[in-house]
Amino acid sequence: MIDIIKHPEYNNYELVKSFSDGETGLKGIIAIHSTILGPAVGGTRYFHYGSEEEALDDVLRLSRGMTYKCILAGVKYGGAKCVLIAPNKDNIKSKEYLKAYGNILKQYQNFYTGEDVGMNQDDIEELAKITPNIIGTIAKAGDPSPWAALSTYYAIRGALKFLYNNSSLKDKKIIIKGLGKVGMELVRLAYQEGAILMVYDINEDRINQALEFFPNISIIQPEEFYTKECDIFAPCALGKDITNEVANTIKAKIICGSANNQLVSDMEGIILFNRGIVYVPDYVANSGGLINVVAELDINGYNKVNVLDKCKKVEEEVALILNESKKTNTAPNIVADLIAKRALIK
Ligand code: NAD
Repeated sequence: MIDIIKHPEYNNYELVKSFSDGETGLKGIIAIHSTILGPAVGGTRYFHYGSEEEALDDVLRLSRGMTYKCILAGVKYGGAKCVLIAPNKDNIKSKEYLKAYGNILKQYQNFYTGEDVGMNQDDIEELAKITPNIIGTIAKAGDPSPWAALSTYYAIRGALKFLYNNSSLKDKKIIIKGLGKVGMELVRLAYQEGAILMVYDINEDRINQALEFFPNISIIQPEEFYTKECDIFAPCALGKDITNEVANTIKAKIICGSANNQLVSDMEGIILFNRGIVYVPDYVANSGGLINVVAELDINGYNKVNVLDKCKKVEEEVALILNESKKTNTAPNIVADLIAKRALIK
């Protein structure tokens, strides 16, 4: 296996450990970035990486991102992540494979993990039979996506308030890319408030479903995402939509969606800022999923009202970040990272 200790970032983490199990083919890396503010949380990703170095980079980046996300969401947890290196592109895991992984997790009781890319609800339920540090089972917090959509909705309100001094989505032109679990719920929330919606998904069934539920929406073509004038572009599919070219040309006034890792790099956030386009850091917008899942760890038990309150607070958090960005002449993605870094050294 790869020599983790040689990675230049290794010392910035509390723990980085690879593991494997010859019999089942299990192979993975756990990274615990920080437990300064509380036990570490972060999903398990199952992915066919091009190399072990790629898997290591991913787990380091994602676990640090979880620490920042927890801080900005106001939950007293730290960041961690586990990546499982899939032997091929099939998403098939045997019970023995999951059992071997569950037994590894038992050794890290200050790390709570749940669903991420490549893991499904059945995998999570299976792991929960083996080890107690599993979050997001159906019996507890359940599906995080409606909450990720809700926090994204409040993040949009925060950005609208900042730009127009009015947080209402009514009559605002919104492009939503991706009509999956989060995107479709965001369409519902925006639709019921009277937004003018232009949506798209590569999956035609999702488009037809959206047209059936929300007859007044229109369908936009992918080549129009960045050329059409609109108030908000909401990326709700996969990451890396905001390339250098997109940052330099996009016509939207606000970018705020649920997708993780929307910016190819920090530089794209700076380009947007210099062009006067309001970018809401993705991990702040989509934090409702995390807020919901950690609520099940509360000593008083899962409380839906508290989850709702915390999701609503995302509107204020976004306003705070954007105002700080304006005051300090710093791009909002950089401001959000700085807020998180400062919280860690307090
Ligand atoms: P999903 O898989 O249910 O939906 C993604 C949708 O995007 C699918 O319908 C897919 O067909 C579509 N899509 C893929 N490529 C596309 C393209 N090029 N153009 C248009 N549509 C495309 O996923 P989800 O749970 O809705 O998550 C959406 C995003 O939000 C992801 O980036 C995810 O990481 C992030 N996120 C999700 C949650 C959650 O709780 N589900 C929480 C935080 C962040």
